[in-house]
Amino acid sequence: MRKQIVAGNWKMNNNYDEGLKLVSEVVNMAKDELGPDVYLVLAAPFIHQKAISQLLSTGENIYLGAQNCHEKENGAYTGEVSVAMLSSVGTEYVIIGHSERREYFQETNEQLAKKVDLVLSGKLTPIFCCGEPLEVREHGDPYKHVENQIEESLFHLSAEDIKKTVIAYEPIWAIGTGKTATSDQAQYMHAAIRNCLSKKYGQEVAGEISILYGGSCKPSNAKELFSCEDVDGGLIGGASLNARDFIDIAKSF
Ligand code: PEP
Repeated sequence: MRKQIVAGNWKMNNNYDEGLKLVSEVVNMAKDELGPDVYLVLAAPFIHQKAISQLLSTGENIYLGAQNCHEKENGAYTGEVSVAMLSSVGTEYVIIGHSERREYFQETNEQLAKKVDLVLSGKLTPIFCCGEPLEVREHGDPYKHVENQIEESLFHLSAEDIKKTVIAYEPIWAIGTGKTATSDQAQYMHAAIRNCLSKKYGQEVAGEISILYGGSCKPSNAKELFSCEDVDGGLIGGASLNARDFIDIAKSF
């Protein structure tokens, strides 16, 4: 059975103390309110990684994530952070190819393929983001756009490795806009993504890959989105900055 995952992407928010306070709140609420079937990921800024890893204990189903890594193993890349560095402080998940990184840092599908490889070879789990901009949704073919992102960044992986990868479908027009995809739109795209994986890797492998929805997901719409057959959880931006909202979303399965 595929994992149900709710991952919080804090982006460039929370100073050190604010971040640790948020983690403590999430941990306490999760202990009291969440069952064992939901996996939480906290994708915090780099400065929080080590301290959060010390706060989380095994068996709680709460995992530490990062929001990016560099595509080279090490070297003269001022300001960058490698997979090995993340691994050394206990990071377990890495968001790869978020639309903000694609847009503001010109990350390409080819570059993202290298990042995914490094994350997997470091035995961490990539959360690979894909999704179409508004122009493509309104005047193009959103499915083709997403299929191309997946083919160019993930299709070189072996079946074993693709099974270890989490995919997040995030329509760009829904990120941070308050505009959510309807559950029909989300299910359609998630099923199409699974079908595309199935054509390459077979139904059994595709059936094991968790596909998360991201884009203005909040407690009021999570239940409907998560009830879709091919939606296995969410990648949550704004609402992950509030422990109550984040946990309420995770309780929506
Ligand atoms: C995101 O940035 O991954 C995201 C889904 O943001 P928001 O929930 O704020 O739309």
